[in-house]
Amino acid sequence: MKCFACGNPAVIYRKYEGRAWCKRHFSKQLEAKVKLTIRNNNLVKKRDKICVALSGGKDSSLTLYLMNKFFGKRPDIELSAIIINEGIRGYRDKSIKSAKKLCENLGVELHIFSFKEEFGKSLDEIVKEKKARACTYCGVFRRFLLNKKSRELGATKLATGHNLDDEIQSVFINNLKGDINRLMRLGPKPPFPRKEFVTRIKPLRNIPEKETALYCMLNGIDFYSSRCPYSEDSIRFDVRKFINEMEEKYPGTKYNIIRNFDAMLPALRKYFANTAEVKACPKCGEPTSREICKTCELLESITS
Ligand code: SF4
Repeated sequence: MKCFACGNPAVIYRKYEGRAWCKRHFSKQLEAKVKLTIRNNNLVKKRDKICVALSGGKDSSLTLYLMNKFFGKRPDIELSAIIINEGIRGYRDKSIKSAKKLCENLGVELHIFSFKEEFGKSLDEIVKEKKARACTYCGVFRRFLLNKKSRELGATKLATGHNLDDEIQSVFINNLKGDINRLMRLGPKPPFPRKEFVTRIKPLRNIPEKETALYCMLNGIDFYSSRCPYSEDSIRFDVRKFINEMEEKYPGTKYNIIRNFDAMLPALRKYFANTAEVKACPKCGEPTSREICKTCELLESITS
């Protein structure tokens, strides 16, 4: 197949467009789409300190690579990366290696924090001792540390690697669960910025997952691609399968869903404004809308 723009050999055929593209045109288009997402949603401002939440996987690695490409030379913008080591042997240690290599190549400062140092136990130890579901602890603890540590580092933005597929899956899951509060918090950045929470931004939100992987491979971006040993079949797994089947059968489904959701989002946010009061957790002082934050609640369960 030949590139639609220049006739050179194509690296991708996008069914949803009905066109094929070479490496150069595919890469340029992906970068332009990310820039548009940033610009249209005001994701980055002058004097921002952007911290990229890195895992070593393809999406977060691409996020760092592109943020560095777009803003690395801007004297008014600071860029760094943060990685949370949950303590998953044979998995996170390897992905941290990739993350370190990428940061070295780009000359970006990397900050590493671990469950073991912050909470006294690694995820492997928690799972072994409590015979618990790893993801329950992992998600809550990681979100907590990403916000706390990036805020302490002075970050004004926390850039995550959420891609188009992740975002659509979340739209479906929150609909299936009837969780309107979480639904309206989706989008390229949060609806109600609060000083206690570093503003999370999603520059890759309009890029399909397959294309983030392809860009990384074509442009020599180091990433670690294995699956977490604790990942299991979940509602997200089923939703992903369903959406991919729909996209295969009806190309363009993913972009139709996100466009439709984005058109409804302002109304959704207006009518279901987040009224939950955010206060300081009496135990750790971090922001929460609960009596005691979820992290402290789970920490109690692993120390009791
Ligand atoms: Fe954490 Fe692994 Fe679960 Fe992801 S799959 S939330 S990395 S334990």
